[in-house]
Amino acid sequence: MPHSSEPTYALVGSAESSFQASTQGRVAEEAAIGLVSEVGSLLEELEGAGVGAHGPAPEADRLVQARLGVGAGLFAALRCKSPPAAAHSLRVAMICSGWAEHLGLSATAREALEIAALLHDVGLIGVPDDVLLKPGPLSVQERLLIDAARSHSLEILRTSCFLPEVLEIVRNVGAWYDGSRAGYDCRGQELPLGARMLTIVEAFDAMTNEQVYRAGMSRERALAELFRCAGTQFDPHLVEQFALFVEAGLSTVRQAVAGRWLERLDPAVANRIWSFWGDWSWGRQPDLLDLFIGRLLENMYDGVIFIDTAMRILLWNHGAERLTGITAESITGRSWSPELLQVRDEKGALIEPDDCPVACTIRSGVQSLRRLTLTGRSGRKVPVDVHIIPVTTDRATEGAIMLLHDASSEISLEQRCQNLHQQATLDPLTQVGNRAEFDRVYEAFIHTHLERQLPCSLIICDLDRFKQINDTYGHQAGDEVIKTLAALLKRAAHPGDLVARYGGEEFVLLCANCDNATAARRAEQIRQAFSQLQFPCLGGASVTASFGVTQVQAGDTPETMLRRADRALLLAKSKGRNRVVQLGAGTDGPEGSRLWNLFQHKPPEADILLQQRLRTPVPLSLAMEKLRGFVADHSGRILSAQTDQIQLEIDTSPSRNRRASDRPMTFLLNIRMKETREAIETDRPSSFSSSQTKIQVALAPKRTRDRRRMDVVARAREVLLSLRAYLMAEDDPQPDTGWEPSLPKKKKRWWAWLWRK
Ligand code: GH3
Ligand code: MG
Ligand code: MG
Repeated sequence: MPHSSEPTYALVGSAESSFQASTQGRVAEEAAIGLVSEVGSLLEELEGAGVGAHGPAPEADRLVQARLGVGAGLFAALRCKSPPAAAHSLRVAMICSGWAEHLGLSATAREALEIAALLHDVGLIGVPDDVLLKPGPLSVQERLLIDAARSHSLEILRTSCFLPEVLEIVRNVGAWYDGSRAGYDCRGQELPLGARMLTIVEAFDAMTNEQVYRAGMSRERALAELFRCAGTQFDPHLVEQFALFVEAGLSTVRQAVAGRWLERLDPAVANRIWSFWGDWSWGRQPDLLDLFIGRLLENMYDGVIFIDTAMRILLWNHGAERLTGITAESITGRSWSPELLQVRDEKGALIEPDDCPVACTIRSGVQSLRRLTLTGRSGRKVPVDVHIIPVTTDRATEGAIMLLHDASSEISLEQRCQNLHQQATLDPLTQVGNRAEFDRVYEAFIHTHLERQLPCSLIICDLDRFKQINDTYGHQAGDEVIKTLAALLKRAAHPGDLVARYGGEEFVLLCANCDNATAARRAEQIRQAFSQLQFPCLGGASVTASFGVTQVQAGDTPETMLRRADRALLLAKSKGRNRVVQLGAGTDGPEGSRLWNLFQHKPPEADILLQQRLRTPVPLSLAMEKLRGFVADHSGRILSAQTDQIQLEIDTSPSRNRRASDRPMTFLLNIRMKETREAIETDRPSSFSSSQTKIQVALAPKRTRDRRRMDVVARAREVLLSLRAYLMAEDDPQPDTGWEPSLPKKKKRWWAWLWRK
């Protein structure tokens, strides 16, 4: 032990120089009596007779193990290095424990003090024996080695002990109360109570026991020294308390403490403070948190794997065992590689170690979530949602957590939803949309195009004389033909289009962003391509189809457009089949939007809601034909007809986007038509004239209560615009003032041809 020119009473031999100086030369006078002999005999008993420098001390071991649990290994290391140092630590710990009990400290504070006392000198294991056992004075270098042992104690404990209180005591043991000793930040009451107590007890024990450099002194003498240094080196109040404790209770401290440690301490509880994870700063109850996290990980159904930056597997929970069939025991500590689980990417290709998502996350520090496939227990391929989370500190990435969620059930659910969706929307024979899908899409399709003033067209086609084909070649052959036409339509469809089977051998192609002429061209191409096919199932014969085409136009509803396309198809059939017929004019672009603006006013109070004067560049007979189309397509009802005037009723149904509570609205229309001839001026001397029809329209809601509805004008405007489109009419720049629109009450069925269909 260090001694002489700078002698020390403390076992560690650190620089309590003032005290050391005062004790020098007096130590030999004092006999080891009282407490000293008492504790000494305890230790003799505990360490057993004839304990060698490195020999076993079974009783002491039992005591230390009770107190430290697995941490007793650290104490054993100290005992192997220096049995006197270990004996000193054990004595100090027992006195501290008894004193803490005497002072009424909490169990937690006493526990921390006991552990700190047992291990505060563990750093001595790093001091060479020739320094530790040196009977003569220490050199400066040797003293520095002894001083460093304190910080080594702290370093060793910081990597393994979970209780911050213990670390705080060890950090401050040896600090002077007045703050004058270098290397410590705190002083006075700022120093932890445990550290102030331990400093006193440590000094007392060193003084009262024989050291390598001097004999032990008496208890009284040691107490006197403590009092002498109270206020500078020691907490004066605690020195007084300690003196009282020594007087009153020291004789029974050995039994009390040994009994408590051996009988009452639960080794499992003692083990709690020692953690593999080192000094994670998890607040005041890290042991409890650890317990919670441990339970959570073990009970999670999902797999959880911890992987460090060296790609070593640190943790493999029960969930991971269940999913992979690999036990934690066999895999923990091994290197992670995607090959371990034959992890496959989204396309089913094996993931190479270079593309390992865990390695990517550790490199980039960015989390990832992918659906991969791995080979699970019994070689089963399991789809898993793999969530990889980087574990980072302020400075660096420490590893990654891999969460594995078995996605089999989701996949089968997604698959089932997809199957159900297909069943609900696709025609089973042709795999194009079914009628329900067409009905669902069509309305929204038309409204969207109308709203955005974009053209869109509808092609309806129907196989010609198909009944004969069925009758001649059989139903199965007929099915082949139907499938072929569907496939052809599908190939001809552009993105955004919809092909659907409208009925038996009738299909529709909804053409997005497509005007009448383009749609007619596309229909013609399909018609030609189809008619040129020779069907082996029909003995090489070919089949034809007829096509009706129309474009959405201002004022159209989905129904009117569909009826127009259907009329076009009927015309194609009636004109001889295997042809394309196109009907309707289409939207009139900027002109159309101008018309919409024209009607943006509030409904007048009068019965007549809207009225307009129009003209169409066709003779009256043709205008009437067009009016017939309008009435038929809108399922209009004629109330009266006179020479130049007709009154109708038209129902409008609410647009798709309107409230469900909206009811259909019925409008009364009064239409007057008059054919005029207009001179066409040319450069030639003889000018000629052409026929045109002037039209007057007045429109009113049939029911009075409808007049108060917010959308009455919009609905009326739709009807009017549709009429304009059918009549190919425009605003009349020279209105004929001789007309006054009126809504006659009399019904006179004069234009009988209008009922013709
Ligand atoms: P048109 O040129 O006037 O259209 O004459 P068509 O014979 O094609 O018209 P019609 O409506 O009289 O007959 C349609 C036939 O289509 C009758 C029906 O048996 C047949 N059909 C409807 N659905 C299917 C089907 O799924 N498979 C087969 N093979 N035939 C069908
Ligand atoms: Mg047919
Ligand atoms: Mg048909």
